[in-house]
Amino acid sequence: MGLLRDLQALDHYIDRLRREVAELDAGELLRERIEQTRQRMQEIKQRYEEMHARATEQELRLQEFDERIRRTEADLYSGRITNPRELQLLQHEIEQAKQAREQMDVEMLHIWEQMETMKQDIDKAERDMRHLERVYEAHMEDFRQRKAALEAEIAFHLRERAELAQQIDPDALARYEQLRQRLGGTAIAVVEQKACSVCHTLLTPYILKRLQNEDALIACESCGRLLYDPMLAQA
Ligand SMILES: [Zn+2]
Repeated sequence: MGLLRDLQALDHYIDRLRREVAELDAGELLRERIEQTRQRMQEIKQRYEEMHARATEQELRLQEFDERIRRTEADLYSGRITNPRELQLLQHEIEQAKQAREQMDVEMLHIWEQMETMKQDIDKAERDMRHLERVYEAHMEDFRQRKAALEAEIAFHLRERAELAQQIDPDALARYEQLRQRLGGTAIAVVEQKACSVCHTLLTPYILKRLQNEDALIACESCGRLLYDPMLAQA
């Protein structure tokens, strides 16, 4: 029974190591953040491209406008038009065109400003991205090391367990394994103040007597776990 108890202690320890492995942070959150940053960057880049297309278009419009103003002015000063009324109209037209041209310049400036801000955003996103990737690499290196260390420790204790299991009576071992599976990892309970240490049910005098006198595996009548009395083991 003492060996079974040692086995359970070892099993509990191995279970704990396995839980630690399962709980290791495999970097999912970091990967998510990297993905979000990448998406944000792509969005900004796309908007930048759109803005760039708009700027090119505006530039073309400006050129056409300038060309029109030049032509009208050439007309005006060509001396071909002599009618004062017509000349006045032309002058008015040029003035209006120049005003519109100024407005277009303001718009253009605004577009350039927006593009500059976007460029800064893209640069920042790229820096964030590189930083996150470095953090992720370091994290994963650490994760792999921890995982390998835990797995090596598990492998070591599994060998230890196999050796211990060999010393245990096969029937007792089989019963232990069954109970462990059925009862969530704990097959053995300790007698503590005449009660089962796991389910806390008070043990009957009959069970206590059997524990004292018999060399058999005796189970808690309530939860079914095999009972181990450390007081008896000492005697
Ligand atoms: Zn019990």
